[in-house]
Amino acid sequence: MRIDLRSDTLTLPTAAMKEVMNNAPLGDDVYGEDPSVNSLEEKAATMFGMPAALFCPTGTMTNQLAIKVHTRPGDEVICDKLSHIYLYEGGGIAMNAFSSVRTLEGNLGRITAKMVEENINNAADVHQPVTRMVSLENTVNKGGGSIYDFNEIKQIKEVCTANGIILHLDGARLFNALVETNETPLDYGKTFDSISICLSKGLGCPVGSLLLGEKSFINQARRYKKAMGGGWRQAGALAAAGIYALDHHVDLLKEDHRRAKAIGEMLSVNSWVEKVYPVNTNIVLAQLPHNITSAEFVEKLKEKDVHCVSFGKHLVRFVTHIDFTDEQLAALKPRLDF
Ligand SMILES: *Cc1c(COP(=O)(O)O)cnc(C)c1O
Repeated sequence: MRIDLRSDTLTLPTAAMKEVMNNAPLGDDVYGEDPSVNSLEEKAATMFGMPAALFCPTGTMTNQLAIKVHTRPGDEVICDKLSHIYLYEGGGIAMNAFSSVRTLEGNLGRITAKMVEENINNAADVHQPVTRMVSLENTVNKGGGSIYDFNEIKQIKEVCTANGIILHLDGARLFNALVETNETPLDYGKTFDSISICLSKGLGCPVGSLLLGEKSFINQARRYKKAMGGGWRQAGALAAAGIYALDHHVDLLKEDHRRAKAIGEMLSVNSWVEKVYPVNTNIVLAQLPHNITSAEFVEKLKEKDVHCVSFGKHLVRFVTHIDFTDEQLAALKPRLDF
């Protein structure tokens, strides 16, 4: 039995999801006439209590559109040095928005209000780029699925408001955080100027991300999306999958988290593993000793038909998802016993 824990993007749509995709009403989304895309955008905006939403192919696109619309060339974006927007979006901040980035060293990818405050430039000094926006990630991929304390987020918001700075959330895995905490999408909608969420990670859609924000912001993002060739005509089948996932797959994330914790325990007694990061959501990071490389570890597991990814020279990542079952979890245990 193949066990694939490389990413939560690998999931395939379920039979029920495929059925709603097959039956989705369609139209031309560039004309604003795809009923399924329109319903998904309305549903997401309502869920977060935000004025508007834009359905896009990827989370990279929703993040990059947000940065492009919020900043002007030469402005500065503050984020943690482990951020996806900085590490894994192909240099998009420089390429699309011509913005400068100030990376901070937080705790497992999470920065604090104090750190933000200390890193805001003096806008009156022509030497310094203008600090225009702060981008947070929740949960943090590179932080092993770490979750922000919402009180810290609120304090960051206060600092941003006091300094006229925009606050964006890369919420690719926000629902993984929401099922583990007491906050609701509305709390996040009230706090952030813009939010990006992924439907194709833990929520199990084949494709899709949503960008949320003010109407004028979304209108501008829609314009850039089109200019980049992202106008996708009858995208309704993908949107229908998104609606289905928001209705049926959010609660399943808890199961992914339970299985991730179990994997963390299995790895913590594996002789090749030095340390397992705290497992809070669906990501498990295992630190290897200096004499074992992640490439060797990945290869060793590959021979047992278990697949994970290298996440650094001595760091490996396992991600649980909707296609990883309890049966696979049971089959994994003996294979991690070495
Ligand atoms: C996956 C991911 C994204 C978006 O990735 P795409 O592959 O472009 O959809 C953004 N942020 C984080 C934290 C992610 O894990």
